Amino acid sequence: MKKSFIALVAFALMVSGGLLSFKSKDKRPNILILFSDDHALQAISAYGSPYIKTPNIDRLAKEGAIYQNMFCTNSICAPSRATLLTGKFSHKNGHKTNLTQFNAGQDMYPKYLQTAGYQTSWIGKWHLQATPQYFDYWSVVPGQGAYYNPDFIEMSGKTVRQEGYATDVITDKALKWLSADRDASKPFCLVIGHKCPHRNWLPDTGDLRAFDNVKFQLPKTFYDNYEGRLAAKRQDMTVTKTMRLKEDLKVDAGDDAFVKRMNPAQQKAWLTYYDKVTADFKKQNLSGRALDEWKYQRYMQDYMGTLLSLDRNVGRVLEYLDKTGLAENTIVIYSSDQGFYLGEHGWFDKRFMYEESHHMPMLIRYPKHIKPGTVDKAIHNNTDFAPTILQEAGLAVPKDMQGQSFFSKTPRKSTYYHYYEYPAEHSVQTHFGIRTDRYKLIRFYNDGEYWELYDLKKDPEELKNQYGNAAYKAIQKQLIADLKKLIFQYEDTEAAEILKKEGI
Ligand code: CA
Repeated sequence: MKKSFIALVAFALMVSGGLLSFKSKDKRPNILILFSDDHALQAISAYGSPYIKTPNIDRLAKEGAIYQNMFCTNSICAPSRATLLTGKFSHKNGHKTNLTQFNAGQDMYPKYLQTAGYQTSWIGKWHLQATPQYFDYWSVVPGQGAYYNPDFIEMSGKTVRQEGYATDVITDKALKWLSADRDASKPFCLVIGHKCPHRNWLPDTGDLRAFDNVKFQLPKTFYDNYEGRLAAKRQDMTVTKTMRLKEDLKVDAGDDAFVKRMNPAQQKAWLTYYDKVTADFKKQNLSGRALDEWKYQRYMQDYMGTLLSLDRNVGRVLEYLDKTGLAENTIVIYSSDQGFYLGEHGWFDKRFMYEESHHMPMLIRYPKHIKPGTVDKAIHNNTDFAPTILQEAGLAVPKDMQGQSFFSKTPRKSTYYHYYEYPAEHSVQTHFGIRTDRYKLIRFYNDGEYWELYDLKKDPEELKNQYGNAAYKAIQKQLIADLKKLIFQYEDTEAAEILKKEGI
């Protein structure tokens, strides 16, 4: 009896010791990143969108913080993800464009988290043309992925097609991993990577009619003439000329591959809707600005249509966290790989260091540390994700990571940018630059060398290039000096060489 009592006490101590360490581990927060693709700030109601209501994403702003000055360091899909993973600028992680394979074996936040006992996971859009590493679980769509019945590359190496709408299916997979498959004794760090709302904007069948009776207001700069802005003039990303009637705007697109992969019910709903769109379009026989504006309305209807499912699915994840009691100790981040043009300057797509694509949406809920309703106006960028994750997990931030925590007490004064993918689709010239809270200086190179300077307070739409204007002489000089400083701090030798040639 006595013996078994001692054994019992010993066992209880062992268990409680185990539980204690389990408990102390448990104090480390879970981290959940909802990362969409090409989601413009202008299409989130918490940012004051005139176009759409996104009540579930808005919850994060109400219950946490909205970031007004979060920027991308290279506004394009795969490089943005590479920066998220590594905490480094493109020139340091080696992933400058969408056209190459990412070196997925380099140091990155999931590696450090895994070593420290976190469960790491990435589900959905990945887009890095390399097998994910340092993840306990991953399931990613190949390349851009499909909106309907998407394929997933599984850890086994097999590609498996999943019936359903991509945003739903990706969320289903994430909820399954959270509820059934992960090791619940460890904290987790999960990225739910959405395809939505990437081109060519296919809404779920139930959302096709949602914006039928909405007339979207044309942005003031829709008919921009690009005066004084050579790269803006040269681009190939306008709603009026670049956007394709068939593949993008779905006129007579019934025989396209994206329709063919739908199941019969999806196809029926889809064709019922777009056959009518096509017929109405043909009947109207539009030309000139009437045609331009028809395209704009159709673009906006489809883009916004995809977001309805995205917002619902963000809601599903938040509801799951609430229901399971995980919400209290989970940092939830909503962001997108970059911003996007919704007709501003006449454009869709991204790439430029101008405001709409330079900005990233970001909302963070973290009940333990963020006061509900916080509005953060400090300058942040996407090199800050990885340091934030590591710091909140209680780990040291490696010296070669170039960002700093979103919660840092010493906010940065400016942010650096460098875009590389040229010549390529959309013809956006190579450029680098600096943005402060009021000014932006951009240096274009590699096909004509020139500068642009904007006073965002007086000219928020960036229509008047002030470079060389005597009234901005002192500011221009200061910005060039600050830019040079950032280039040296971040060791961007390519940009340093360009300045050196100019005697800077
Ligand atoms: Ca993107």
